[in-house]
Amino acid sequence: MGSIGRNDRCPCGSGLKYKQCCLKKNNLTFNEIESDDNMRIIVKSTYDFIKENKFEGGCHLTSAIMYILLTEVGFTDLEVKTGVVENDEGRFDHSWVEYQGKKIDMAIMNTLQDGFKYPPVFLDKLIGSSELMEYKYGIDMELDSDALRVLNQSLSDYILDGESQNTVLIFKDIAKRSGIELSDAKETLRKYSGTYRVLERK
Ligand SMILES: [Zn+2]
Repeated sequence: MGSIGRNDRCPCGSGLKYKQCCLKKNNLTFNEIESDDNMRIIVKSTYDFIKENKFEGGCHLTSAIMYILLTEVGFTDLEVKTGVVENDEGRFDHSWVEYQGKKIDMAIMNTLQDGFKYPPVFLDKLIGSSELMEYKYGIDMELDSDALRVLNQSLSDYILDGESQNTVLIFKDIAKRSGIELSDAKETLRKYSGTYRVLERK
């Protein structure tokens, strides 16, 4: 899929040129995606954090952080999902957020999967993608032990237990970038001691 020319027929079958169809739909900035501003700033702050710190493979962490911050500012109908994701280049265990069933996935831009970097996903749309990348989320495969472990840990425990790997500091950093005041970050985290990830498997 990576070798479609801008002037080729779009692979989605619309009959339009690729540059007038899916390329245009995917090569978006955060501001071009219709969303509530409070949601956009939390997601964009997570993106900025990953980018500035070249933060690799943090899907279980950044998905939990986005879920908690989005919930803190009042969003409902959110889930953190864990499952195997597949694209043209391979498969990997992964965690992402869904809001009203639409995917929010920043960690995919800097995976531990052989150092692969893919366009991040905001409400099912690809940010800044010049290629038509297709992700299949939650394919029917066994998870590795690491991913199974996170499924059995609440979002709160996952972040608090990882404190020695700076997970609490990263939570505070992304909250601050998002303009969210936390008088006691750990107290906020403890509210999510009953919130777990959902296994996604088709
Ligand atoms: Zn198309």
